[in-house]
Amino acid sequence: MEQASAADRMRAEGNAQPLTGIPFIAKDLLCTRGILTTCGSRMLANFVPPHNATVIDRLFAQGSVLIGKTNMDEFAMGSSTEHSAFYPSHNPWNLDYVPGGSSGGSAAGLAAGEALFALGTDTGGSIRQPASFCGVVGMKPTYGRVSRYGAVAFASSLDQIGPLTRDIRDCALVMNAISGRCDKDSTSAPVDVPDYTTCLGRDIKGLRIGVPREYFVEGLQPEVRRIVEDAIRALENLGATVLRDISLPSTRYALAAYYIIAPSEASANLARFDGVRYGFSRQLATTEESVLATRGEGFGPEVKRRIMLGTHTLSSGYYDAYYLKALKVRNIIREEFRQAFEQCDLLAMPTSPTVAFPIGSKIHDLMQMYLSDVLTIPANIAGIPALSLPCGFADGLPVGLQLMANSFREDLLFQAGHAYQQASEWHMKQPSL
Ligand code: GLN
Repeated sequence: MEQASAADRMRAEGNAQPLTGIPFIAKDLLCTRGILTTCGSRMLANFVPPHNATVIDRLFAQGSVLIGKTNMDEFAMGSSTEHSAFYPSHNPWNLDYVPGGSSGGSAAGLAAGEALFALGTDTGGSIRQPASFCGVVGMKPTYGRVSRYGAVAFASSLDQIGPLTRDIRDCALVMNAISGRCDKDSTSAPVDVPDYTTCLGRDIKGLRIGVPREYFVEGLQPEVRRIVEDAIRALENLGATVLRDISLPSTRYALAAYYIIAPSEASANLARFDGVRYGFSRQLATTEESVLATRGEGFGPEVKRRIMLGTHTLSSGYYDAYYLKALKVRNIIREEFRQAFEQCDLLAMPTSPTVAFPIGSKIHDLMQMYLSDVLTIPANIAGIPALSLPCGFADGLPVGLQLMANSFREDLLFQAGHAYQQASEWHMKQPSL
């Protein structure tokens, strides 16, 4: 209420900016001063940070109003929000289904109309996949585009913060507000931020859109394929040149490389949670017993699995065989994207191979859960920006079209996404709750 009053004052004084007074929700791993920031974990169930994440500060400076923190898979590890230590979130389109994850609470809250935009984070698909499952827009910016200061780290070479919105214009406005270099995050890039709203309304005649064949393979739900192909045809009808012979052959190794790189980094990042300085703490007779009990009881099963996996792949004797090899695969994937973007401006494919799945259906089949991100992970591996936008429904559940661009070419994603939304109405559909 105080923030809303302050926004009213800004407006009265003639200092209103595009997001002044606009209510938003933020994934609960973005630090908010004086407000609980749990990361969906028992480990941080009582953690109240003394500082704001840079993205939060930047939105507050515009007068945006934070109305809630959103549920998530514990420490952003998961694809369904069922790995939250507190409770699962539900998909507003069908309450028996997951909203996706790990930013599932952000996507579900936005789709349900609880706020006008949301912030999430995306390490392997955690903005785009829930956006796709809940029928909203989600963007993973270029690695380095948005400061991560104050975002609790999962896998530092992959994590990015980004917006979830109802339409492309809102997405551009939020990106305008949160992008750009910040001295508190040395990985934030000193690259100028264009006004992303200037690419809205630009026509897409001659824009070259590649359709990489490796993203239309086994495991893809037939309805999802048909709907995404229709969306690509719609872009073609708007004047884009569609290239259907694009190949990114090493895509098939991206998921495997991710499940070595991400857990390796997570095992290092999560070493800080020892119960000594903040968070959940068990005090026993010795330091070792205390740390063991703190971590044993504070972390849930998926987080422990990642820490064990990452500790193993970084250990002597396995480092070369797994971690180093995964980094080499990563370079090959990056190089393939670089070559693809010599032939085309954008790549188009589905965001996720399926629509949302029923709560409980994949929680005991982790390979199936991990495969949910098989089409989003390559963009994180390569560091490039990617967008998911609503493009239809299968079995009453939303389907997402994914567009990828070369680094720092978010403007092209907005241009094409906006053109598509001018010609379609999928982004205006709302669940009846
Ligand atoms: N679902 C993927 C994972 O579990 C990606 C998560 C994310 O992007 N934060 O690691």
